[in-house]
Parts: sequence; C-alpha cells; structure tokens
Amino acid sequence: MAAQLIDGKAVAETLINRVRVGVDARLAAGKRAPALAVILVGDDPASGIYVNNKKRSCEKAGVRSLSYELPGSTSQEELLAIIDQLNADDSVDGILVQLPLPKQIDPQLVIERINPKKDVDGFHPYNMGRLAIKMPQLRPCTPRGVMTLLEEYNIDPKGKNVVIVGASNIVGRPQALEMLLARATVTVCHSATADLAGEVGRADIVVAAVGIPNFVKAAWLKPGAVVIDVGINRLDSGKICGDVEFDAAREVASYITPVPGGVGPMTIATLLQNTLDSANLNA
Ligand code: NDP
Repeated sequence: MAAQLIDGKAVAETLINRVRVGVDARLAAGKRAPALAVILVGDDPASGIYVNNKKRSCEKAGVRSLSYELPGSTSQEELLAIIDQLNADDSVDGILVQLPLPKQIDPQLVIERINPKKDVDGFHPYNMGRLAIKMPQLRPCTPRGVMTLLEEYNIDPKGKNVVIVGASNIVGRPQALEMLLARATVTVCHSATADLAGEVGRADIVVAAVGIPNFVKAAWLKPGAVVIDVGINRLDSGKICGDVEFDAAREVASYITPVPGGVGPMTIATLLQNTLDSANLNA
C-alpha cells in the first residue's frame, strides 16, 4: 500500500492560524503585535521569493513585518550597523538575515551579531547550545517544523531509530538535537559516512537534507519507514524535487513528505511561531 502523504501545506496553515490566536491574545492583553525584521542583501532570485513568501505569511498571522532590501554591494559594516540598530529597537522581536550573503560578508559574524533573544532563525550559537543542553529557546525553523509535522501525524520519535542524512548547521545538526530531545536514537550521516545504505536501512524515521535530487534510494528504506524529505532542488526543467526517490519510496514507506508541499511550508510557519515566542520572551 502506498505511504500516506504528510501534508505540510495543511499543517503549516494550522500553525499559522495558531500563531494568529497567540497574536490576538497579545493584542487583547494590550500588548503590541509581534514584529519581524527581514533583511535581504543582493538580488538572489530564490531569496527574493522566500522573502516575499515570508511577508505574505506575516500578514496572515498578524505579525508586523519590516523589510530591508539592501544592494549586493552592501558592506559587512553597513549590515552589522543595521543589526545593531534592530537589536536596540524594543519594537522589533525577530531579526532574520536571509542567507546566502554576498561574498564580502561573513555569515557567521552576522549570525552572532543578532541578539539571541531576537534570533528567530535559531542559528546563533547561544540558541544552538541551548538546544544541545535540553533547554531550547529559539529553535532553528526547519528542524522544529519537522517535529511539528511528526506531532500532527501522531508519529512519536521516542525510542525510534532516526537516521538523518546531512549534517549542516541549519538542518542536519539541529535536527539531530531535536530528535535526541524527543528521545530518539539518532544517527547523523554525511559525506564521510561509510555505509549510507546500511545506516538508512536501520531507520524507522529518515530525514533527508542533502541537496541532491533523488539521492536517497527507495531500495535503502526499511519497509514502513517514515520519510521526511527536506531537500529542495530545482531541476533543469524548472521542476522542484526533493532528495528522496519519491515515487518508488512511496511504495515502501508508511508516511512520506512530498516536495513541494511537505517540509517547505513548515519552515515559514515555524518562523512566525518563533517570532511570537520571541515577542512573548521579550514581553
Ligand atoms: P548543505 O549543503 O549545507 O549540507 C548538505 C549535507 O549533506 C552536508 O552535511 C553534507 O555532508 C551532506 N552530503 C553531501 N553529499 C553527501 C553524500 N554523498 N553522502 C552523504 N551526505 C552527503 O545543505 P543544507 O543542509 O543547507 O540543505 C540541504 C537541502 O535541504 C537542500 O536541498 C536545501 O535546499 C534544503 N533546505 C530546505 C529547507 C526547507 O525549508 N525545506 C530549508 C533549508 C534547506 P558534509 O557535512 O560531509 O559536507
């Protein structure tokens, strides 16, 4: 029997509505709406699309969005000065700098300049560290979104073998910490992993975050595995696909996320959730 599709679009809508309820509760208590500042440097077309989607979702959730669209020639000092200004602004709860940044800017320096209490991307070492010591505060959006998806489908990682393919700072690593927090037994694979097929074959839940189309083969999967595909790859045809051999994997898995319409929409919805959390954290 074909796997059940995990509908990220629907869960993301539910989450945005939940954020809206939280925003309304703040307003009813006489507080202001949460505010998110999004900084885009340069004119990368994919980043431009993400930023526009973020603005639209902010409107739906009742979150105020401030947008900074800076030229590709912006210097590191100029960007850091804007971050300092937003850090000091009590009317701003979340600060997001859209990655990738132009070459003259060191992304790590930028990430670490953001006040950790406003770090809605959850990439600051303070927030990554808190996640690592079981005291999460602002959690990276994509991995947190994956956990919400699993929760909505009553898939509990506790006691399960979870294999994550990919170990980046923005997806694979924080995903491993999230899964550990949820009491899973976690394996993280990367380009030096010796027996990828063998590792994936032991997984009850597989999270693929590699960035290579159709990289994770259906033949590697344990029958009945839950497959979460974080990959977003644009093919020459213009079609978007994930990191998993979707059609064949669907015949083996119990649940699977489609691309698009799986993890992708959850990332933005979780960003809004983090912005509300951040506003409540900063009171
Ligand atoms: P990175 O390129 O930063 O990391 C890729 C990871 O995959 C690395 O850990 C790398 O290993 C590993 N990898 C690469 N080749 C292999 C291989 N042959 N065997 C095993 N592991 C390998 O990518 P990101 O984590 O930023 O993104 C991954 C995918 O997720 C992309 O398609 C991206 O577009 C998508 N994405 C989707 C989001 C969403 O909202 N749905 C959000 C963010 C990303 P090593 O560490 O050894 O280099």
